[in-house]
Amino acid sequence: MFTSTSALRLASRRIATTSTRSVSSASSSTATKVVKEGSSRYANEEYLRKALPLLLASGVAIVGASQLSSNNETSTTTLCRSKSSNKVEAAIQQTKDKFAKYWPRNIMILFGPPGAGKGTHGPKIEDLLGIPQLSTGDMLRAAVAAQTEVGKKAQAVMKAGGLVSDDIVVGIIRDRIKEDDCKFGFILDGFPRTLVQAQALDKMLAEEGASVTKVIELQVPDEVLEERICGRWIHKSSGRSYHVKFAPPKSMQVGDDGKPIAESMKDDETGEPLMQRPDDTASALVKRLQGYHNETVPILNHYSPNGIVKTVNANQKMDGVWGEVLDSLSRK
Ligand code: AMP
Repeated sequence: MFTSTSALRLASRRIATTSTRSVSSASSSTATKVVKEGSSRYANEEYLRKALPLLLASGVAIVGASQLSSNNETSTTTLCRSKSSNKVEAAIQQTKDKFAKYWPRNIMILFGPPGAGKGTHGPKIEDLLGIPQLSTGDMLRAAVAAQTEVGKKAQAVMKAGGLVSDDIVVGIIRDRIKEDDCKFGFILDGFPRTLVQAQALDKMLAEEGASVTKVIELQVPDEVLEERICGRWIHKSSGRSYHVKFAPPKSMQVGDDGKPIAESMKDDETGEPLMQRPDDTASALVKRLQGYHNETVPILNHYSPNGIVKTVNANQKMDGVWGEVLDSLSRK
């Protein structure tokens, strides 16, 4: 498969934009198995897409193993036969450490009003780039559920659709982006929401010589959002999102009043009950949209001069939105 060292180096470069989860989970045996599979399977595009990170990971591992190897064999063919899983693991770790230390972090903001699809497309970007989506809304909801000090302070304002104080959310993000899974970058969802937060973010990134690399704005007209938000049901533990009209769960039953019966709303995969967010109401949405237009949209002007703001029409079929998101992520 890999016939030259330069091809392997190319693969190792590609790893920077490949799921780190795939890399870390790619055992040498799995990768070897994939390499040995019959060529007929490669005709299947979906299979190839899934196998690619494993192939790349094995390539990186082999390059690293060659550097660690105590004998002087340099031929890739010989190295392919190496059975030392310790060396392979060490090589993978060494490569990951190298990217974590010397490559800039990919720091993205997923931008858009409530109901624009940040929660739908964020996980897909996560899978594509292997960097985590950090949702301040999710973190605050977890704090409310756990009734921490932050949660107690945030609860009422969140339910009413207002904004939690800048100090609180900036503190949450400051701590979160220091965690190990953010070392290659992260996708911010719901943060920054005010100019003050954007400036605080820039300042904390500047401390490591970094800056925001991309802002993806999901554009949806306000009038479309009420139907999206008020019909939304969520599976709390996975974050899977359903909609009574556009994506109903298989279990949904409708009552005589034409509305879904709450007890029938169950997650397709686990059968667990779905829930509606307390702020997914028409009245809270009015306030959330006001906050979005008055306080959040000016952030686009803040980042526009850097040429990093990309706009996506998120008022179209999901595949169309995802196509535009992919376009906005790619280098031109
Ligand atoms: P979301 O899930 O992003 O819609 O956020 C839910 C709620 O959490 C918001 O309506 C706010 O009350 C609060 N929240 C989330 N992120 C922020 C933020 N960056 N600044 C202030 N409040 C926030």
